[in-house]
Amino acid sequence: MPGAAAGFCIYNDPALAIARLLELGAERVAYVDVDVHHGDGVQAAFWEDPRVLTISLHEHPRTLFPQTGWPEETGAGEGEGSAVNLALPAGTGDAGWLRAFHAVVPELLADFRPQVLVTQHGADTHFEDPLAHLAVSLDAQRAVMESCHELAHRYAEGGRWVALGGGGYAVVDVVPRSWTHLVGIAAHAPVDPESVVPPSWRDLVYARTRQLGPGRMTDGRTPSWKSWEDGYDPADRLDQAVIATRKAAFPLRGLLA
Ligand SMILES: [Zn+2]
Repeated sequence: MPGAAAGFCIYNDPALAIARLLELGAERVAYVDVDVHHGDGVQAAFWEDPRVLTISLHEHPRTLFPQTGWPEETGAGEGEGSAVNLALPAGTGDAGWLRAFHAVVPELLADFRPQVLVTQHGADTHFEDPLAHLAVSLDAQRAVMESCHELAHRYAEGGRWVALGGGGYAVVDVVPRSWTHLVGIAAHAPVDPESVVPPSWRDLVYARTRQLGPGRMTDGRTPSWKSWEDGYDPADRLDQAVIATRKAAFPLRGLLA
Protein backbone atom coordinates (compact mmCIF):
# COMPACT_ATOMS: atom_id res chain seq x y z
CA MET A 1 0.00 0.00 0.00
CA PRO A 2 2.72 2.63 0.78
CA GLY A 3 3.91 2.67 -2.83
CA ALA A 4 0.59 3.17 -4.58
CA ALA A 5 -2.26 5.64 -4.98
CA ALA A 6 -5.65 4.42 -3.71
CA GLY A 7 -9.17 5.73 -3.57
CA PHE A 8 -8.89 9.32 -4.80
CA CYS A 9 -5.59 9.87 -3.02
CA ILE A 10 -2.02 10.08 -4.24
CA TYR A 11 -0.42 11.46 -1.08
CA ASN A 12 -1.53 10.44 2.40
CA ASP A 13 -1.28 13.78 4.20
CA PRO A 14 -2.36 12.46 7.63
CA ALA A 15 0.20 9.63 7.54
CA LEU A 16 2.96 12.02 6.46
CA ALA A 17 2.04 14.49 9.19
CA ILE A 18 2.06 11.75 11.83
CA ALA A 19 5.36 10.33 10.56
CA ARG A 20 6.88 13.80 10.84
CA LEU A 21 5.58 14.18 14.40
CA LEU A 22 7.22 10.86 15.30
CA GLU A 23 10.43 11.97 13.62
CA LEU A 24 10.35 15.09 15.82
CA GLY A 25 10.14 12.89 18.90
CA ALA A 26 6.41 12.42 19.57
CA GLU A 27 5.72 9.23 21.52
CA ARG A 28 1.92 9.23 21.45
CA VAL A 29 -0.15 10.49 18.52
CA ALA A 30 -3.88 9.81 18.25
CA TYR A 31 -5.58 9.80 14.84
CA VAL A 32 -9.36 10.06 14.68
CA ASP A 33 -10.89 9.64 11.21
CA VAL A 34 -14.59 10.39 10.73
CA ASP A 35 -14.53 10.30 6.91
CA VAL A 36 -17.21 7.91 5.66
CA HIS A 37 -14.48 5.64 4.24
CA HIS A 38 -12.18 3.51 6.39
CA GLY A 39 -8.85 5.20 7.12
CA ASP A 40 -7.03 2.24 5.65
CA GLY A 41 -3.82 3.99 4.62
CA VAL A 42 -3.07 5.55 8.00
CA GLN A 43 -4.01 2.32 9.76
CA ALA A 44 -1.62 0.36 7.51
CA ALA A 45 1.21 2.87 8.00
CA PHE A 46 1.16 2.48 11.79
CA TRP A 47 -0.25 -1.06 12.08
CA GLU A 48 2.63 -2.27 14.23
CA ASP A 49 3.45 1.04 15.91
CA PRO A 50 2.18 1.48 19.48
CA ARG A 51 3.02 5.20 19.36
CA VAL A 52 0.07 5.84 17.04
CA LEU A 53 -3.51 5.06 18.03
CA THR A 54 -5.75 5.10 14.94
CA ILE A 55 -9.53 5.30 15.39
CA SER A 56 -11.75 5.20 12.31
CA LEU A 57 -15.54 5.61 12.18
CA HIS A 58 -16.87 4.69 8.76
CA GLU A 59 -19.64 3.04 6.78
CA HIS A 60 -19.51 -0.72 7.09
CA PRO A 61 -17.06 -2.49 4.73
CA ARG A 62 -19.91 -4.73 3.54
CA THR A 63 -21.45 -1.76 1.74
CA LEU A 64 -18.56 0.63 0.99
CA PHE A 65 -15.09 0.93 -0.50
CA PRO A 66 -12.40 -0.01 0.52
CA GLN A 67 -14.09 -3.02 2.19
CA THR A 68 -11.80 -2.86 5.21
CA GLY A 69 -12.20 -1.45 8.70
CA TRP A 70 -13.74 -4.43 10.44
CA PRO A 71 -13.75 -4.19 14.25
CA GLU A 72 -11.42 -7.18 14.38
CA GLU A 73 -8.65 -5.14 12.70
CA THR A 74 -6.75 -4.07 15.81
CA GLY A 75 -3.08 -3.83 14.85
CA ALA A 76 -0.25 -6.33 15.15
CA GLY A 77 2.99 -7.01 16.98
CA GLU A 78 3.86 -4.18 19.33
CA GLY A 79 0.96 -2.27 17.81
CA GLU A 80 -1.64 -4.84 18.84
CA GLY A 81 -4.59 -2.78 20.10
CA SER A 82 -3.47 0.45 18.43
CA ALA A 83 -6.06 0.29 15.62
CA VAL A 84 -9.73 0.79 16.45
CA ASN A 85 -12.49 0.43 13.87
CA LEU A 86 -16.16 1.29 14.17
CA ALA A 87 -18.14 0.06 11.16
CA LEU A 88 -21.47 1.87 10.98
CA PRO A 89 -24.57 0.46 9.31
CA ALA A 90 -25.58 2.13 6.04
CA GLY A 91 -28.25 4.72 6.74
CA THR A 92 -26.81 5.85 10.08
CA GLY A 93 -28.00 9.41 10.78
CA ASP A 94 -27.08 12.17 13.20
CA ALA A 95 -28.23 10.56 16.45
CA GLY A 96 -26.52 7.23 15.71
CA TRP A 97 -23.32 8.78 14.38
CA LEU A 98 -22.90 11.04 17.41
CA ARG A 99 -23.84 8.25 19.81
CA ALA A 100 -21.20 5.99 18.24
CA PHE A 101 -18.51 8.70 18.30
CA HIS A 102 -19.10 9.43 21.97
CA ALA A 103 -19.34 5.73 22.90
CA VAL A 104 -15.81 5.09 21.66
CA VAL A 105 -13.57 8.10 21.04
CA PRO A 106 -13.46 10.08 24.34
CA GLU A 107 -12.72 7.03 26.49
CA LEU A 108 -9.84 5.95 24.26
CA LEU A 109 -8.32 9.44 24.21
CA ALA A 110 -8.74 9.87 27.97
CA ASP A 111 -6.73 6.69 28.44
CA PHE A 112 -4.11 7.24 25.71
CA ARG A 113 -3.38 10.91 26.52
CA PRO A 114 -1.87 11.78 23.13
CA GLN A 115 0.74 14.49 22.79
CA VAL A 116 -0.99 15.49 19.57
CA LEU A 117 -4.50 14.76 18.30
CA VAL A 118 -4.81 14.46 14.51
CA THR A 119 -8.36 14.35 13.13
CA GLN A 120 -9.62 13.79 9.60
CA HIS A 121 -12.98 15.39 8.72
CA GLY A 122 -14.03 13.92 5.39
CA ALA A 123 -17.43 15.45 4.64
CA ASP A 124 -18.72 12.38 2.79
CA THR A 125 -20.82 11.17 5.73
CA HIS A 126 -23.40 13.77 4.63
CA PHE A 127 -26.86 12.69 3.45
CA GLU A 128 -26.32 14.51 0.14
CA ASP A 129 -22.98 12.84 -0.58
CA PRO A 130 -23.31 10.86 -3.79
CA LEU A 131 -20.71 8.18 -3.03
CA ALA A 132 -21.72 6.74 0.34
CA HIS A 133 -24.76 5.82 2.36
CA LEU A 134 -24.70 7.52 5.73
CA ALA A 135 -27.24 10.25 6.48
CA VAL A 136 -25.35 12.77 8.60
CA SER A 137 -26.15 16.50 8.50
CA LEU A 138 -23.76 19.45 8.37
CA ASP A 139 -24.89 20.26 11.91
CA ALA A 140 -23.78 16.86 13.22
CA GLN A 141 -20.46 17.17 11.35
CA ARG A 142 -20.00 20.51 13.08
CA ALA A 143 -20.86 18.94 16.46
CA VAL A 144 -18.13 16.33 15.97
CA MET A 145 -15.62 19.03 15.01
CA GLU A 146 -16.45 20.88 18.22
CA SER A 147 -16.07 17.65 20.20
CA CYS A 148 -12.66 16.99 18.62
CA HIS A 149 -11.62 20.51 19.55
CA GLU A 150 -12.75 19.99 23.16
CA LEU A 151 -11.08 16.58 23.31
CA ALA A 152 -7.81 18.09 22.10
CA HIS A 153 -7.93 20.68 24.86
CA ARG A 154 -8.88 18.09 27.47
CA TYR A 155 -6.58 15.19 26.59
CA ALA A 156 -3.83 16.27 24.18
CA GLU A 157 -0.67 17.84 25.56
CA GLY A 158 -1.07 21.60 25.38
CA GLY A 159 -4.28 21.15 23.39
CA ARG A 160 -2.27 20.28 20.25
CA TRP A 161 -4.66 19.51 17.41
CA VAL A 162 -4.05 18.94 13.70
CA ALA A 163 -7.44 19.15 11.93
CA LEU A 164 -7.57 17.91 8.35
CA GLY A 165 -10.09 17.65 5.56
CA GLY A 166 -10.66 14.40 3.70
CA GLY A 167 -13.18 13.06 1.23
CA GLY A 168 -16.41 14.77 0.22
CA TYR A 169 -18.16 14.69 -3.15
CA ALA A 170 -21.12 17.01 -2.67
CA VAL A 171 -18.66 19.71 -3.66
CA VAL A 172 -21.05 22.66 -3.79
CA ASP A 173 -23.62 22.05 -1.09
CA VAL A 174 -21.62 20.30 1.61
CA VAL A 175 -17.81 20.34 1.47
CA PRO A 176 -17.20 24.13 1.47
CA ARG A 177 -19.57 24.67 4.38
CA SER A 178 -18.25 21.71 6.36
CA TRP A 179 -14.59 22.71 6.15
CA THR A 180 -15.38 26.38 6.73
CA HIS A 181 -16.84 25.32 10.06
CA LEU A 182 -13.75 23.21 10.75
CA VAL A 183 -11.35 26.07 10.09
CA GLY A 184 -13.48 28.44 12.17
CA ILE A 185 -13.58 26.05 15.11
CA ALA A 186 -9.85 25.31 14.93
CA ALA A 187 -9.10 29.05 14.78
CA HIS A 188 -11.27 29.75 17.84
CA ALA A 189 -13.47 31.83 15.54
CA PRO A 190 -16.46 29.52 15.01
CA VAL A 191 -18.94 30.43 12.29
CA ASP A 192 -22.52 30.78 13.50
CA PRO A 193 -24.58 28.03 11.82
CA GLU A 194 -27.33 30.58 11.16
CA SER A 195 -24.92 32.72 9.10
CA VAL A 196 -25.88 33.46 5.53
CA VAL A 197 -23.44 32.14 2.91
CA PRO A 198 -21.79 35.20 1.29
CA PRO A 199 -23.67 36.16 -1.91
CA SER A 200 -20.37 36.70 -3.74
CA TRP A 201 -19.50 33.04 -3.21
CA ARG A 202 -22.95 31.92 -4.37
CA ASP A 203 -22.53 34.06 -7.51
CA LEU A 204 -19.21 32.37 -8.22
CA VAL A 205 -20.81 28.95 -7.72
CA TYR A 206 -23.64 29.85 -10.08
CA ALA A 207 -21.28 31.16 -12.73
CA ARG A 208 -19.19 28.00 -12.63
CA THR A 209 -21.78 25.28 -12.05
CA ARG A 210 -25.25 26.72 -12.76
CA GLN A 211 -26.19 25.50 -9.27
CA LEU A 212 -27.64 27.91 -6.72
CA GLY A 213 -25.51 26.78 -3.80
CA PRO A 214 -26.57 26.62 -0.17
CA GLY A 215 -28.03 29.69 1.51
CA ARG A 216 -27.00 29.15 5.09
CA MET A 217 -24.24 27.52 7.12
CA THR A 218 -26.69 25.00 8.60
CA ASP A 219 -28.93 22.17 7.46
CA GLY A 220 -31.41 23.34 10.08
CA ARG A 221 -30.91 20.33 12.35
CA THR A 222 -30.28 20.32 16.08
CA PRO A 223 -28.53 16.99 16.56
CA SER A 224 -28.80 15.15 19.85
CA TRP A 225 -27.85 11.65 20.91
CA LYS A 226 -28.24 9.20 23.78
CA SER A 227 -25.20 8.51 25.91
CA TRP A 228 -23.75 4.99 25.90
CA GLU A 229 -23.41 5.16 29.69
CA ASP A 230 -27.20 5.17 29.98
CA GLY A 231 -27.39 1.69 28.48
CA TYR A 232 -27.69 0.01 25.09
CA ASP A 233 -29.98 -2.22 23.09
CA PRO A 234 -28.33 -5.49 21.92
CA ALA A 235 -30.98 -5.78 19.17
CA ASP A 236 -30.16 -2.36 17.67
CA ARG A 237 -27.80 -2.42 14.66
CA LEU A 238 -25.95 0.75 15.64
CA ASP A 239 -25.47 -0.51 19.18
CA GLN A 240 -24.28 -3.85 17.80
CA ALA A 241 -21.60 -1.99 15.84
CA VAL A 242 -20.43 -0.15 18.94
CA ILE A 243 -20.42 -3.35 21.00
CA ALA A 244 -18.33 -5.12 18.33
CA THR A 245 -15.75 -2.33 18.40
CA ARG A 246 -15.55 -2.10 22.17
CA LYS A 247 -15.28 -5.91 22.52
CA ALA A 248 -12.54 -6.22 19.92
CA ALA A 249 -10.40 -3.23 20.85
CA PHE A 250 -11.01 -2.03 24.39
CA PRO A 251 -9.64 -5.07 26.33
CA LEU A 252 -6.40 -4.84 24.28
CA ARG A 253 -5.97 -1.34 25.72
CA GLY A 254 -6.82 -2.46 29.26
CA LEU A 255 -10.28 -0.90 29.09
CA LEU A 256 -13.59 -2.56 29.93
CA ALA A 257 -15.64 -3.46 26.85
ZN1 LIG B 1 -14.13 9.32 2.13
